[in-house]
Amino acid sequence: MLILRNNDGLSVFIANAEKAGRKIGFVPTMGALHEGHLALIREAATLTDIVVCSIFVNPTQFNDPADLEKYPRPISRDIELLHGTGCDILFLPEVGEIYPQDIDTSLSIHPGRLAEVMEGEFRPGHFEGVMQVVHRLLDLVRPHILVMGQKDYQQVAVVRYMLEATRSPVQLHMSATIREADGLAMSSRNVRLTPAFRAIAPVICQTLAEARELIGRMAPQEIMDQAIEQLTAAGLTPEYFRIVDGMTLEEVSDPGQHEQIVACTAAWAGDVRLIDNMVLRP
Ligand code: AMP
Repeated sequence: MLILRNNDGLSVFIANAEKAGRKIGFVPTMGALHEGHLALIREAATLTDIVVCSIFVNPTQFNDPADLEKYPRPISRDIELLHGTGCDILFLPEVGEIYPQDIDTSLSIHPGRLAEVMEGEFRPGHFEGVMQVVHRLLDLVRPHILVMGQKDYQQVAVVRYMLEATRSPVQLHMSATIREADGLAMSSRNVRLTPAFRAIAPVICQTLAEARELIGRMAPQEIMDQAIEQLTAAGLTPEYFRIVDGMTLEEVSDPGQHEQIVACTAAWAGDVRLIDNMVLRP
């Protein structure tokens, strides 16, 4: 695995790979890697000839400076974990490489409601930052396939919109959410959970699974209300629990009218914000 820290080195490598007709897969991450990230890299390796993984804690997608500061950055451990996963290039840029003073990296794409509901409501500006960094990274890495996790379902929807709006040729592949044995979705933030909150956090996944059982038998609004009560009773502080259309992310009132239905939730476990989702009807 080659570790590249600047755009010039990456550009030479990518140009050579393109000349050799290699298919390039790309997995962007913010590091503090876990089995969920490694699964994306393994999947990318089955789809492409060369896998590039980036680790970049993107300042523009954090609406809370304290969250950015507290974000874990165990880089030596990340490098160790990447060995043996099929990752060919680790791109490890500094902020100045991604956002140089002399290049305008801003994007004027507005996905509308897709970026305004749920995460967009509670993390204003978040998806603008996500689109900006993914767009910039795609310019640098020039992959054929971009692999992202279902764990961030709304992020995938917003990036899909961005790719379509920019007429990007990049193919977007969504990989399943990887969970701990007790159901908790793996997340870089999980290491910050206190033992007490770690013990109750699986209630998030349980509540989503219950929604999957109840859809079609109980009104979506009732399921959502019950879920909020259940998360709160367990000791979490939920921000939202929504049952939405899988494509538009608009709330579902009559499940019969929708082909794909997803439940998405965000809840605080102490000072750690956790998100998760589950497809209720594929
Ligand atoms: P992050 O480093 O949290 O920005 O995540 C980088 C990529 O890994 C994103 O596409 C996430 O959706 C994906 N990811 C994070 N956690 C998981 C998980 N538990 N299962 C699958 N993919 C994940």
